[in-house]
Amino acid sequence: MADSTTTLIHHPYTPPEGFAAPQPGVFKASTVIFPSVAAMRSFEWKDKTAYTYGLHGTPTTYMLEERLCTLEGGLQCLLLPSGLAAIANVALSLLRTGDEVLMPDNAYGPNKTLAEGELKAWGISHRFYDPMNPQDLEAKIGPQTRLVWLEAAGSVTLEFPDLCEMVRLCKARGVITALDNTWGAGLAFAPFDLTPQVSPTLGVDISVHALTKYPSGGGDVLMGSVITRDASLHMKLKLTHMRLGFGVGANDAEAVLRSLPTMALRYRTHDEAARELARWCQTRPEFVQVLHPALPDSPGHAHWRDLCQPGPGGAAGLFSVIFHPKYNETQIDAFCDALKLFKVGYSWGGPMSLVVPYELASIRSGWPAHLKQGTLVRFSVGLEALADLRIDLSQALQTSLT
Ligand SMILES: *Cc1c(COP(=O)(O)O)cnc(C)c1O
Repeated sequence: MADSTTTLIHHPYTPPEGFAAPQPGVFKASTVIFPSVAAMRSFEWKDKTAYTYGLHGTPTTYMLEERLCTLEGGLQCLLLPSGLAAIANVALSLLRTGDEVLMPDNAYGPNKTLAEGELKAWGISHRFYDPMNPQDLEAKIGPQTRLVWLEAAGSVTLEFPDLCEMVRLCKARGVITALDNTWGAGLAFAPFDLTPQVSPTLGVDISVHALTKYPSGGGDVLMGSVITRDASLHMKLKLTHMRLGFGVGANDAEAVLRSLPTMALRYRTHDEAARELARWCQTRPEFVQVLHPALPDSPGHAHWRDLCQPGPGGAAGLFSVIFHPKYNETQIDAFCDALKLFKVGYSWGGPMSLVVPYELASIRSGWPAHLKQGTLVRFSVGLEALADLRIDLSQALQTSLT
């Protein structure tokens, strides 16, 4: 198959007769009219052989689903109103009272919060495993474990796990794996083909994306997806999706469709700039550690190198720094506030660079041995000129810490 850079542009869209525009139309509907009552009764709600109601799919949402499948190498896709809703859909579909879910200690924060809130209240337990230690995951898989979340690289601290080994041992125990693939975006590695050189290829069961990030690319859409390569698993997830009434707006679907063809280009540019800035930060005395999986001394670098292409486009545009412990919170807040181009704000994947300080002690079970002590600040690198971003970091360090 062609590179996703190409397939995101040359997609199998057939425009209406005589209107050969490359960009698809936008279809909006709640009601879809049936030719007769008999036809209405015979139409199947659960698959895509017919349109039944706007909530269950339109030509616009089906097209976005297909293109996301092409990107990821999956076969079925569900769209949800946010990345977090996609995560929740997986949990609500697969977990019942008495079950247990395992997630990495560096999992996306709100996924942990969902486990600590609704899942716990419904009698579903959770445990966190060490993302850098497959044996710890293996030891924690018990008879009640129904789902294992994976993240590569992990949120905020960006450790890159031994994804293949973790998927392999979950498969051996018959436990479903769900990867939050927002960081990789379907570009850094292929979640359903982790080992393309060996057959049968190793892959995760479910790949979840926050389309909010790179697929949208504009910082103006909230959307999520759940992609699978197994029809019966998809149907299970889809029935929950239908019963809970999840759906996405046509204009939002259009915004993502419009952004997808430029995603590989954007991702590569974010990646190049983030690596440059991460390397520059390594030369600065203010930081005791710089976290980016492409840096040789970053946690899990070897796993990243084995799975992702080492060149541009093999990593997302995120990196974190740990400030020397001599700097206090007030100074680090002042540094973040002194930045002019990096704005203080959550999320990432849009054109504007962002910065967030994190209190690592409050989001991890304990201070990880592979991380130095100090305050962590995460940067999401946008699409501004690299030289301007470097000047911005430099001036903020100068004005706030000296
Ligand atoms: C942003 C993000 C999400 C959630 O996406 P929303 O659309 O903001 O709900 C999930 N996982 C990861 C890793 C994210 O970065």
